[in-house]
Amino acid sequence: MVSQTLASDILILGSGGAGLFAALHAHKAAPDLSITVAVKGLLGKCGCTRMVQGGYNVALAKEDSIERHFMDTIEGGKWLPDQDLAWQLVTLAVERIRELENELGCFFDRNPDGTVHQKAFAGQTFDRTVHKGDLTGIEIVNRLAEQVWARNINRLEEHRAVELIKAKDGKSVSGVLFVDMRTGGYVFVRAKAVLLATGGGPTMYKYHTPSGDKSCDGLAMALRAGLALRDMEMVQFHPTGLLAGTHTRMTGTVLEEGLRGAGGYLLNGAKERFMPRYDPKAERATRDDVSRAMFSEMLKNNTSPHGGLYISMAHLGPDRVAREFKGMVERCADCGFDLAGGLVEVVPTAHYMMGGVEFRPDCTTGLPGLFVAGEDSGGVHGANRLGGNGVANSTVYGAVAGDVMARWVQSAPPGEPDTAAVVAAISILEKPFERAASGSLEAFRENLYDIMWHKVGIIRDAAGLVQAARELAALETALDAHGLGDHNRAFNLTWHDWMNLKSLVAVSRAITAAAIAREDSRGAHFRSDFPQAGPLESSAFTSIRADLQVSMKPVAFTRVRPGQTLLKNVA
Ligand SMILES: Cc1cc2nc3c(=O)[nH]c(=O)nc-3n(C[C@H](O)[C@H](O)[C@H](O)COP(=O)(O)OP(=O)(O)OC[C@H]3O[C@@H](n4cnc5c(N)ncnc54)[C@H](O)[C@@H]3O)c2cc1C
Repeated sequence: MVSQTLASDILILGSGGAGLFAALHAHKAAPDLSITVAVKGLLGKCGCTRMVQGGYNVALAKEDSIERHFMDTIEGGKWLPDQDLAWQLVTLAVERIRELENELGCFFDRNPDGTVHQKAFAGQTFDRTVHKGDLTGIEIVNRLAEQVWARNINRLEEHRAVELIKAKDGKSVSGVLFVDMRTGGYVFVRAKAVLLATGGGPTMYKYHTPSGDKSCDGLAMALRAGLALRDMEMVQFHPTGLLAGTHTRMTGTVLEEGLRGAGGYLLNGAKERFMPRYDPKAERATRDDVSRAMFSEMLKNNTSPHGGLYISMAHLGPDRVAREFKGMVERCADCGFDLAGGLVEVVPTAHYMMGGVEFRPDCTTGLPGLFVAGEDSGGVHGANRLGGNGVANSTVYGAVAGDVMARWVQSAPPGEPDTAAVVAAISILEKPFERAASGSLEAFRENLYDIMWHKVGIIRDAAGLVQAARELAALETALDAHGLGDHNRAFNLTWHDWMNLKSLVAVSRAITAAAIAREDSRGAHFRSDFPQAGPLESSAFTSIRADLQVSMKPVAFTRVRPGQTLLKNVA
């Protein structure tokens, strides 16, 4: 059934910031190795790194420090981040931003004195976000892609990874099974080292920001391969997703944080400002707090015509808004809204997964030969990711993974692939073709959206979560019985949609189980039946495997304990 078998020393899944940095670093460390980047879309044109608007957090300014960036990350993450991972993030971000500028060709915005301009982002005590206007991700990914194209690095585009294949003895990874989306044929790529960099992406929620190619495939494959995922209950919602009705894919996309930062107001259905009632920082509070306040207003049914709320900027002066937020004004106008002078409907939108595969600072995982980096990994951000720390995470850890894999493959034992596992994986993927057509998948997707939005969303409780767990299990069973009635495999988007839903439901079940297990409220996870954060000193993170059993593991405070700081001169 496998139509093509290939081999590569290093195989990288995904071409976002993590995947591309890994490829470049592995190639630099060992140019003779064969390196392959396999990606569901087109290299350089897919994933969320390209969508980064705001920018990249890094302590560059004299008055800033990596200690300050670290403390902001730990406190923002409500003391749940792995401190060694967070420390490595803030220290290596400095190297990566220099590499991006000086070796890879990125141009970031500069001050008149020639220093790199750094802007303010919520939840940080210093203006440290490096950017290129509000199109930072396009600059980064374009330059990275050009560098990859210029080197002897293989590309498998429109190749969807569907299963991690272990060696026969089960002790290491031996390669990855793919569907070549253009033909529908199965391709097996044998590899000594595999990097999981498929970028998570909470697209199981009714409103979401990530690109359409992201459906948690990597996390679902990791679960099936027996790996543990941590912090899965921590799903970040961005407060201002555009809400323009179901007919447009613009619904759910982000209106940037700078609107609130500049002094924008959030209004309820009665056009009243409500944030000061919830938080002294009002609209400038962190994403988790603003999203929760918005959702609370929505629960009172005091909503805009599409069931959300409004953002209002007009009091800042329409000319200023049009000048400072040109891109946002145009985006809103495309959907019939006047951002500069009127009201725009908004809704909190699922943006980022703090949870992911448990890993060590060198990107190794519980499965020898399998490495992880970027949004597929868990532990760097704890309960809440600071805006600007996402692209820093993917580039920092992508580079680490590339360096480490280049060394690893020199001594990696050649694992003989478990061909029975390949056959078993294919047999599951073929099942929908063996059954008669059973209708559109749209109802499944809408059902998933509703379960996750209402019961596993911004405000949770035990009754809703337990009900969601039951409904998701039933949804999985129904999906397993679904038939396509269409035997054409080439670019069969319905088949791929079925696979997307399979991954999303599997990962949604993990999110739900972890949310049931965490009986407190931290950062992105809020339980109305357990509204307190609980003692920080005994902070623990959730760890879940494919059987959906959750264990609580203590956070090791390796650098700083709650109540302490690494900053000097702080009272
Ligand atoms: C609209 C938006 C704005 C953002 N703005 C910011 C910001 O200003 N600052 C910030 O720090 N962060 C921001 N983020 C978050 C940031 O984009 C992510 O944290 C980061 O880019 C993730 O990088 P990654 O390499 O892990 O994943 P991605 O860049 O998403 O790349 C994932 C790759 O995996 C591929 N893939 C997926 N599934 C498969 C499969 N089965 N087989 C093969 N390939 C697969 C995808 O096609 C893609 O190439 C933003 C996110 C969004 C959605």
